[in-house]
Amino acid sequence: MSDSNHHDVIVIGGGPAGSTVARYAAANGANVLVIDGRDPIGTPLQCGELVPSNDEMRRLCPNVPEMDDLFQTPQEAISRRSTQMHIVPPSGKPLKFPFEGLVLNRVAHDEALVQLAKENGAKYLVDSHVERVEGNEVMLRGGASHTAKIIVGAGGHNDPLRRDHWNESSLKIPVKFVLMDGDFGDAVELHFGSMAPGGYAWMFPKSSGANIGIGIQRSFSKGRSLNQYAEEFISKYEGEISFRGAGSLPMSGSIRTFVKGNYLLVGDAAGMVLPSNGAGITIAMIGGRIAGQVIAEHLSEGTPLEEYEKRWNKQMGKVMRNSKRAFRFGSLMFRLPNWMLNLTFNRLTKGIIWRAVTCRRMFLIL
Ligand SMILES: Cc1cc2nc3c(=O)[nH]c(=O)nc-3n(C[C@H](O)[C@H](O)[C@H](O)COP(=O)(O)OP(=O)(O)OC[C@H]3O[C@@H](n4cnc5c(N)ncnc54)[C@H](O)[C@@H]3O)c2cc1C
Repeated sequence: MSDSNHHDVIVIGGGPAGSTVARYAAANGANVLVIDGRDPIGTPLQCGELVPSNDEMRRLCPNVPEMDDLFQTPQEAISRRSTQMHIVPPSGKPLKFPFEGLVLNRVAHDEALVQLAKENGAKYLVDSHVERVEGNEVMLRGGASHTAKIIVGAGGHNDPLRRDHWNESSLKIPVKFVLMDGDFGDAVELHFGSMAPGGYAWMFPKSSGANIGIGIQRSFSKGRSLNQYAEEFISKYEGEISFRGAGSLPMSGSIRTFVKGNYLLVGDAAGMVLPSNGAGITIAMIGGRIAGQVIAEHLSEGTPLEEYEKRWNKQMGKVMRNSKRAFRFGSLMFRLPNWMLNLTFNRLTKGIIWRAVTCRRMFLIL
């Protein structure tokens, strides 16, 4: 095997998690190869495309340092800025909250992250599907292989490293969405209740049109399919559908262990999605930065790779715990009949609902 096939670090997947690992590891001196099955990375779109602004991220995750260094979203990747979030129960009468959100052009967003990693020295191999990992060897479909001292699984919810080398399972919810033409106002909407059993539905307005979608838990859906729920929810909005997409979202929160020997998991592969609001892009990048920095320190100074888990817990442990608790509480609450659920969304509970969605403690004891 030639030297060009041997690296300090191989990252499987060049999405938000993988490209962020690559950016920070390469910036700190590591020789990094990112391998992704897609070309170009980020297409086709599989996303609702909403992220909190950097200021909102500082409020949501107060222990995460230097947000402006991590999130450098370029203008061309922002479709619309929103200042309000509507949390909508089955009655359709929203509770309204101030919220600074960026509705993205997700494809441009992920391209910018790839560019940033490349500028810091990371190399990319696209259109190359990783079949499996054995020891230090990453094997590709078609027979080629590459080796590395450290291998990172950032391949999303079906990551091959997670699949073959971890035995912890995550709850995944299936998701469908469309891009629809039209004018949908300024506020981003999250809908909870029987229209999206065990999950939630969304409408995120873009500069033109909107991203509208829904995710459900099958065990809550009383024999009806996701397609039926999706058609019913999407048909409430009027406009031409220009794109249809689908995907899967890990919703049980981060898994117990991110590090095994010289293997690391990050992003969706490690369950880094906040289950109470579905935020995955920014959380994958928070995990990616920590992993990239620790990998570089490991290579140059011998810092144990387990330091990645310690720093994650310090920065994100509390937020993730609160979000998991809120999701479990919500899953019980959303089994209530619609009329009862409508009654629970009122001025008195408004603060508690917002605390649940934004991953803070809902009550003194919960
Ligand atoms: C429909 C939908 C809507 C969503 N909406 C939002 C939202 O509005 N806001 C939000 O914050 N989050 C949202 N999420 C979640 C968010 O998209 C993910 O949490 C985020 O993309 C995680 O980043 P990642 O890098 O871990 O994984 P991904 O973005 O999934 O990237 C994984 C990469 O790995 C590559 N890959 C996978 N397997 C292999 C392999 N075997 N070999 C080579 N390459 C491989 C893929 O091609 C891909 O490029 C949504 C998810 C879905 C499915």
